[in-house]
This record gives sequence, structure tokens and C-alpha cells, in this order.
Amino acid sequence: MAKILVTGAAGFIGFHLCRFLLAQGHKVCVLDALFLPHQKIKKARLKALKKQAKDQSFVFVQFSLNDADKLHQLFKQQQFNYVVHLAAQTGVRRSVTEPQLYVESNVVAFINLLEACKKYPVQHLVYASSSSVYGQTEALVFKEDAPANQPLSIYAASKKAAEMMAYSYAHLHQIKSTGLRFFTVYGPWTRPDMAAYLFAEAILNNQPIKVFNHGQQQRDFTYVADVVQVIEQVLFRGQPSTNVPHQILNVGNQNAVPLLDFISCIEKHCGKKAQLQMMPAQAGDVQHTQANTNKLQQLINFKPSTPLDTGIAAFVDWFKQYHSIT
Ligand code: NAD
Repeated sequence: MAKILVTGAAGFIGFHLCRFLLAQGHKVCVLDALFLPHQKIKKARLKALKKQAKDQSFVFVQFSLNDADKLHQLFKQQQFNYVVHLAAQTGVRRSVTEPQLYVESNVVAFINLLEACKKYPVQHLVYASSSSVYGQTEALVFKEDAPANQPLSIYAASKKAAEMMAYSYAHLHQIKSTGLRFFTVYGPWTRPDMAAYLFAEAILNNQPIKVFNHGQQQRDFTYVADVVQVIEQVLFRGQPSTNVPHQILNVGNQNAVPLLDFISCIEKHCGKKAQLQMMPAQAGDVQHTQANTNKLQQLINFKPSTPLDTGIAAFVDWFKQYHSIT
């Protein structure tokens, strides 16, 4: 069985991935600095992972990827076969007010990881990028070969920078890597700053929902279990076969859902109507996202397809259980 480092594994997507990998019998090393905000849910996710893991198959290390020495020691000790890098400062809006944090965790930390992979080679490095790299674009459906040179936030710029750095390391040092551009991931255990969580919380507590850009936004919402399947399949059998061993893949549901439809779906599963408070657009937000996933499908013969209704039903069930709402 493979020995895999998952960074950012106390986070939303990392937690689901680790559960999946542990269930398959892999050895998983979980690295997370447990940064603010949302430490409570990060600790709850870790607790659930520890409960699931068998003694030998799970190691948790808490430090920042910005500590290059500790990272190198870890690679030396553990001799990983694979790395999935999900750690990042997330959330577009905060990157507008605290840009340095994003450069530290999404750019500097990633260089440290690439250096560690150079010194202690792994078979494949899969890292999280984002649909936000497409930024300002006329395209309705996003394809990987679009220019993506006009990021609307430092978060998006940091993700694009990471893609460029991975390419350079593939070119210079033959480090095999794949960047996955995730399109708005949702599901149980989601981040408390994400739309699904904020909306369900407001609806169930009879509070108004702030609907930015007067509800004009559309997002390609992608269910987390699909995302986990993609990561696992790309990691083990979707390595790049190009001369420079690096590739970028969209991971989305190929469907732009209007924000108001997303809210209606949450209302339906909460069994309550939302109070909508229309607001202007927020700095850094893009208006529309929709993935073309042909490249992914060709590579692994799989693409996300969970219907929104199914995913939101599972999310609301979890939300109620997590908050003991009957
Ligand atoms: P998350 O915020 O829940 O998890 C990220 C984790 O990384 C956190 O637990 C945090 O403590 C940790 N972390 C941050 N900086 C670190 C550092 N320097 N060293 C060690 N740990 C650090 O995020 P998520 O929603 O699970 O997203 C995972 C990845 O996917 C991120 O890279 C994110 O940018 C990307 N992504 C997510 C979405 C989405 O919809 N959730 C969409 C596009 C891209």
C-alpha cells in the first residue's frame, strides 16, 4: 500500500480524501497547521479521522509548510510515495484584505514542498488549484488551455503562481505533478465560510441571507465525494505523460447553477424559506464559472456528476446532525 502525504488534511477536502484513502488501506500522513479560522471544525474532522484509522496507517503532524526544515525532516523520515497538496489560505474575499497570508501559504509554502519533493522524490504530486484562475474572461465554459492571465483576487493569483512553479519544477527537475482546478466544492463537513454552510445556518436560524451581486452569480457546484474520487484516480493512474511531466485538469460538474437556484435547493432540504437580502457584488468575486471536463474524462474515464439535489440533501443531513438540530 502507498504511503501518502496529504497537506491541509484537517481542511474540508483533505478530510474527505483521507477518509477515502484510509478506507482503502493506505498509509496516510496528515499535515496541517490548524490555522485560524474555523479551528473547531478542523479539530472535529481530525478526531473523526483518528477514530477511523488503524494505529499504523495514520500519522498527524501539526506544523506550517512555511517551516522548510521540519518539512525536509518529515520527508526524510517518512519516505512518501505520493503527495496530495491541499493546504492553502482559502477564501477569495479575505485575500483582498490580507494578501500577505495568501502569498505565505499558497506560494512560499508551495516552493518549500516542491523543494522537498526534489530532494526526496515521489511518484506523483497532485496539488489543488482553483477555477478562480480563469478570472476575467468572456468564455462561458472554461477549458484548461484558456489564457487565465487576469486573476481578480490575490487568492486567484496565488493559485496561478503555484501552477507556474509546478511547471518549472517539472521542467527543471522532472517532478511529476498535476494541478486540479476545483470548481466550488460543497458537501458534508464543508468550510463554515462557504455559501452552503452560511445559507443553511441562516435559514435554520431564521436569519437573513446576504445575496451578493443581487443573485446574478452562477457557480459550477461540485460534490466533494466526486472530487475525492478524482484526486485518488489521478494520483495513482493519471500521471502526466508529456515531456514536461505537468498537467492541469478542471474538476467541476459542468453545470452553471444560478445562486438563487442553489438557495432554493437548500431551502427545500431545510424545509424552510430563506429571507433574502440583496447586496452589490463583492470585490474579487467572479460572476460565472462552468467547467469543461473533457480532459479529465479522457484521462481517467470519470467526471463529477452528482446532482445538486443529492449533494445538498447529504449536506443538510450532516449540517443538522453536526449542530444537533432536530
Ligand atoms: P480548507 O481551508 O478547509 O483547508 C485548508 C487547510 O490548510 C486548513 O486546515 C489550514 O489549516 C491548512 N493550511 C493552510 N496553510 C497552511 C500551511 N502553510 N501549512 C500547513 N497547513 C496549512 O480548504 P478546502 O476547502 O479543503 O480546500 C482545499 C484546497 O482546495 C485548497 O488549496 C483550496 O485553495 C482548493 N480549492 C478549494 C475549493 C472549494 O470549493 N473548497 C475550490 C477551489 C480550490
